[in-house]
Amino acid sequence: MRIRREDVDHVRERTHIEEVIGEHVTLKAAGIGSMKGLCPFHDEKTPSFNVRPPLGRWHCFGCDEGGDVIAFLQRIDHLTFAEAVERLAAGLGYSLRYEDDDGRGPARREQVGQRQRLVEAHRTAAEYYADQLATSPDALAGRRFLAERGFDRDAAVRFGVGFAPRSGEALLRHLRGRAFTEDELVTSGLAGRGQRGLYDRFRGRLVWPIRDLAGDVVGFGARRLFEDDRIEAKYLNTPDTVLYKKSQVLYGLDLAKREVARLRKVVVVEGYTDVMACHLSGVETAVATCGTAFGADHIRIVRRLIGDDGSNARAEVVFTFDGDAAGQKAALRAFEEDQRFVAQTSIAVARDNMDPCELRQARGDEAVRELVESRQPLVEFAIRSTLATLDLDTAEGRVAGLRAAAPWVARIRDVSLRPEYTRMLAGWLGMEAEPVRRAVAQASRAVRSSGAGPSGGRATGHEDHPEGALPAGLRRPDPRDPVARIEREALECLLQVPDLVPAEDADALGEDAFEVPAYRTVHHAIRAAGGMAVARSLTPSAWAEAVAEAAPDAVRQIVSELTVLPLPADTDEALARYAWSVVLRVAEVEVTRVIGNLHSRVQRLDQAGPEAEEAFADLMAAESYRRALRDRITGG
Ligand code: ZN
Repeated sequence: MRIRREDVDHVRERTHIEEVIGEHVTLKAAGIGSMKGLCPFHDEKTPSFNVRPPLGRWHCFGCDEGGDVIAFLQRIDHLTFAEAVERLAAGLGYSLRYEDDDGRGPARREQVGQRQRLVEAHRTAAEYYADQLATSPDALAGRRFLAERGFDRDAAVRFGVGFAPRSGEALLRHLRGRAFTEDELVTSGLAGRGQRGLYDRFRGRLVWPIRDLAGDVVGFGARRLFEDDRIEAKYLNTPDTVLYKKSQVLYGLDLAKREVARLRKVVVVEGYTDVMACHLSGVETAVATCGTAFGADHIRIVRRLIGDDGSNARAEVVFTFDGDAAGQKAALRAFEEDQRFVAQTSIAVARDNMDPCELRQARGDEAVRELVESRQPLVEFAIRSTLATLDLDTAEGRVAGLRAAAPWVARIRDVSLRPEYTRMLAGWLGMEAEPVRRAVAQASRAVRSSGAGPSGGRATGHEDHPEGALPAGLRRPDPRDPVARIEREALECLLQVPDLVPAEDADALGEDAFEVPAYRTVHHAIRAAGGMAVARSLTPSAWAEAVAEAAPDAVRQIVSELTVLPLPADTDEALARYAWSVVLRVAEVEVTRVIGNLHSRVQRLDQAGPEAEEAFADLMAAESYRRALRDRITGG
C-alpha cells in the first residue's frame, strides 16, 4: 500500500528541511540559501554537510550522501520511505491518503510503518509506567527511592519516571488491550519471549523513558528496587532494537539539546538520577550514556550538536566521573576518545567522590553548579592521576613520574598548550624545567613516529576527513589553500560542464599542470578518459562515469565529489564565463611555473651558447602565451 504521490509531494514541499535536519545537526548559514553543519553520517571536524532549504536538498561532500528531507529521515532514523513520510505528515498535522493498490476495498489507513507502531508502543508503555508510579501501592518502593534522592512528584513527572509492575505481564496485558501484536511487543524490546510465552521485560523496577532527539520514547532504563528481584543487575536497559541503539542514545539529550546547542557545551554524567539532579539544579546541558561507555558514536552526536568544528573555542565537553579508581579509568579512556574532539574537554570530580545526585542531596543545587564550574582540563586530570600513584619524594618516583606523564603532554592536540603544561608538570614533579622539556620533546617524537600514545591509542594525526586511509599524498587538500582552490574549481568544470570550457586549452594542460597530488591524479584520469574531445561526445553522467573508471580507487571518492559540488553561477552565461576563466587560470599557473624554470635555466646557461638561445626563445614563447591567456581571462 502506497502513499499517494501528491501527498508525498505535499509533505515534502511543506516541510522545512532545515528544521528537520536542525533536530540532529546544528546548522549555520553558509551563503545565500545555504546552510552547513557537521555531517551526521560520518565522522568529521570541519563541516561538509550542506543543506539548501530553497531546493529542499542536502548533501555531504565528506561521505557523499545526499537527497531530500525524506531521504534524510530514512537514513538518520533507519526508516522506510513510508515511515519517513508518515513522520513528516504527523509533524505537519496532515492526513495522508493511501493508494488502493489492488482495487479491493478501501485502503487501510491504520496500517502504518513498523517504526511508528513501535514508537506508539513505547509511548503507551511510558504513560502506563508513569501512571503506575503515581497510583500503584506496589510502587511505594519506587516513590521512596526517588524521595530519598530528593526528587518530588513534579520531578518524576518532568522526567517521565515510571514504575514497572512486579507481576510480569501487566504491561503486556495493557498493550495487548491496545491492539499491539506479539511481534510488535517482542520487536520493541518491551517484552521477552520465554518457553511459556511472552513476559514483561521490566518487572518491579523504577523506569526512565529514554528518548531520541525528536523526543520519541525509544527505550527504557530500569533500576532494581526489590531484594527478591531475580535479576541481580542494578540497572537494566532495553536491548538494541530497530529503535534503540545503546551506542547512540544519550539519556536526557532530548531535554538538553537546545541548551547544548545554545551554550555549545555538554555535561556528561553517569546515571539517570545524575541527569535529573543536574537539570533540576540548573545544569540543563547534562546527559548520560545508557548502560555503556561514552564512545565514538556518542562523540559524533554530541559534536554535531555543539557544532564542534574547530571554529569556536567556546565549545566544551565536561565529564563528571566518580573520583574512585573506576571513575579514573573512565576518565583516562575519555582522554583517548578526547583526541576525537576539537572542543575543550574537562573533567569535574567532587572532592568527596559524590556524584551529582548525592551532591544535590547533601549540599543543594548550588553545589551541583559549582561542581561543573570546578572542572579541570582532562589532560591535567590524567597527569595528576598518574602522578598520584607514585612517591614523588624519591628520585626514582620523580623519574618514573616524568616518564609516565611526558607522553600525556606530548599528546595534547593544541600544540600551543604544551609549553605551559611542560612548566606545570615540572612544578608537580618538583623538577627543573629543562629535563622535563627534553622528556616531552622526546615523547613527541615517539608519539609521531610510532603513531601510538602512552596507552597504545591512536596518534593524534590528521583525522579531519574520513579518507584518512588514503595514501598521504592523495588526501583531500586543505580547502583554504589558494592553489588547491583554483585547481579544484577547474576540475569541477572539466567534469561537470566540459562543453563550456575552452577545450583546446584544457587538453593542452600538461602532466604536471596540477600541483596538488590528489588533483593531479584526477587530472590524469581525465586525460586517460580521453579529455574534452571525448567528454563532449558523452552525456554528463557518462563522462563522469568514464573519469571515475579511469581513476585509481584512492581518488574515486574525490572524483565523485567534484562531480556534484555546485558551481558558483546562476545563469548559463555566468557559468560559461566561469568555466572558461577557471580553466585558463590553471593554464596560467602552469605557464608561470614554466616561465620560472626557463628563467633560471637562462641565467645558468652561458649567454652565447645555442642552448641558451633555445631556452630564451622558449621563454619568449611562454611569456607571450601567458600574455594571451591573461587577455583572454580578463576579456572573458
Ligand atoms: Zn558525511
